[in-house]
Amino acid sequence: MRKVYYIYNPRTQTYDRIYPTVRQRALSILRRLFIGMGLGASCFIILLLLFGSPSEKELRTENSRLLAQYNVLSKRLEQALGVLQDIQQRDDNLYRVIFMADPVPEAIRKAGYGGTNRYEQLMDMANADLVINTTQKLDLLNRQLYIQSRSFDEVISMCKKHDEMLKCIPAIQPVSNKDLRQTASGYGTRIDPIYGTTKFHSGMDFSAPLGTDVYATGDGVVVKAGWETGYGNTVEIDHGFGYFTRYAHLKDYQTRVGKKVVRGEIIGHVGSTGKSTGPHLHYEVHVKGQVVNPINYYFMDLSAEDYDKMIQMAANHGKVFD
Ligand SMILES: [Zn+2]
Repeated sequence: MRKVYYIYNPRTQTYDRIYPTVRQRALSILRRLFIGMGLGASCFIILLLLFGSPSEKELRTENSRLLAQYNVLSKRLEQALGVLQDIQQRDDNLYRVIFMADPVPEAIRKAGYGGTNRYEQLMDMANADLVINTTQKLDLLNRQLYIQSRSFDEVISMCKKHDEMLKCIPAIQPVSNKDLRQTASGYGTRIDPIYGTTKFHSGMDFSAPLGTDVYATGDGVVVKAGWETGYGNTVEIDHGFGYFTRYAHLKDYQTRVGKKVVRGEIIGHVGSTGKSTGPHLHYEVHVKGQVVNPINYYFMDLSAEDYDKMIQMAANHGKVFD
């Protein structure tokens, strides 16, 4: 239906009908259109500012979900580090102990990444603390896992060499000592047989008749067969794996430097050369450069009962033969 327009005429106090031109009509339509669009746009912007766009809302939800997941991830990384720590402790205190290897040094286990700040590019992120903290944990886990896996490689190779190692570790007494009467004096502070003063005795003395056979106590290579001040005629064997033994005051040698010996092989005979007060064998065990009590290295030829007896006899504070 066609629209009809009137205008009030104050002079005649009547409404006169008017006939707008096409141009006027078009302008009027355009004006209304623009006003409508303006109003619509303003409402849209106000709503957008107040509530955000649907995609923004979606992003915000996703963001908070990601943040929660990041937090969970961070906690789980912490748990993984805890598990790794447990593995490290078992490695140091159990696996490596079995093979008599030193624990992995703390400095290597805890070594970080040196140099520039690796996390610089993360600094300007939203939630930078959380992101950096989590990344650091992941890096730590990575690094420590790598070190742990290297340590296990070492343990595996020790496992493979274990049979050989068992053959090399000093594990018998250096003279036949079935009735144990030949244990004269043990390791530790004792009275010096010549000066009569207390002195540290670095080995164990076995009194035995002159010429009694002296045995290599583990497989190894003879590194000395010669005279040494105080020790007299001495044989020294390097067993590898950090083990070393010394046999002193010998009457003679039955081996030579460079010879490979096996456990139980005769290397010389009991004598009284050097600083000695009677025929005896002075026997020393060194582990990784440290002299140790040989009593802990007879486990292959003593029963538990004999072992106890021997400890008691070796602990006597009588004079040593040196
Ligand atoms: Zn001695």
